[in-house]
Amino acid sequence: MRFRTLRCLEKKQGLLPARLMLKKILLGDQPLCVRYNRIFRLEVNKDATIRDRILRNSAGLDYSWNWNREPRGRSEAELHSLIGEISSFGFGSYENDSWKWLEHSSGILHTHALATIINNKLLVNSFSSVATLRNRLLPQKIEVFIWRAQRNRLPVRTELDKRGIDLDSARCPVCDNEVETLEHMLIHCTFAKDLWLRFFKWWKVDNFQIQSVNDIASGPMSHSHNFPNPDLMTASMWVCAYKIWYNRNNKLFNKTDGSSSFVLQEVQSCSFKWISIRDKKHSLDWIQWFTKPIECKRIRLIFSRL
Ligand SMILES: [Zn+2]
Repeated sequence: MRFRTLRCLEKKQGLLPARLMLKKILLGDQPLCVRYNRIFRLEVNKDATIRDRILRNSAGLDYSWNWNREPRGRSEAELHSLIGEISSFGFGSYENDSWKWLEHSSGILHTHALATIINNKLLVNSFSSVATLRNRLLPQKIEVFIWRAQRNRLPVRTELDKRGIDLDSARCPVCDNEVETLEHMLIHCTFAKDLWLRFFKWWKVDNFQIQSVNDIASGPMSHSHNFPNPDLMTASMWVCAYKIWYNRNNKLFNKTDGSSSFVLQEVQSCSFKWISIRDKKHSLDWIQWFTKPIECKRIRLIFSRL
């Protein structure tokens, strides 16, 4: 995470415990020793601080230089320029050095504000055009899961690695064959591939290959007028994707995982249970759902895009 690019913090300078090393960036964009290199060469103690050279009293600022020879010519002009810059710096008080949060007038950093900035600058912008999908027949946790997947916000190993989290390995914890990206985990992993194969066999859909997370989110048949029940299929795809993630986490954290045929049964039973509970009007028949979901009564799930 490159906080330096956020430019939200600056050093608030007090005078007394000053650590204004001439070699650090204090005023402007470069260290004083670079911008005023002629007089820096004349300074006896190259580690001297501004506090060593400036005395503040009731009459204003007083200077206590220590040159190896007196500045002359262009060195003297540099010295006048430095004094002018320091005089206009506005030390203000005898406070200790501290950090000031530039994003709020109080100068105090609140973690909530920092989280909002990280959120806006690092996470949201590239996905701001992604529509939010809702599905009234599934639990909110499934909607949130799809929302996060569409925005690449699931903590797969490559994403954790990008954010500077130290991991033993970035390889997929399920197959250990490749680096774990979101697409690998949900689509290309051997486990996911096998499960999707079984899933489409259950729905009796041939020759469909999931290419991206959006194929899962929007549903491959959602625009097909010929497909009898596209919304139900999309809902069960969301559950299937969620179960792939759930199974992956079980393997990683609990050292337990199921076979693809077992996880498909979970997809079938969970989606049946969730949809049945939320839709009393069209009661799904379990045998039909389990054997021929494509023949179930058509249900509009109202996928609203906010
Ligand atoms: Zn894998």
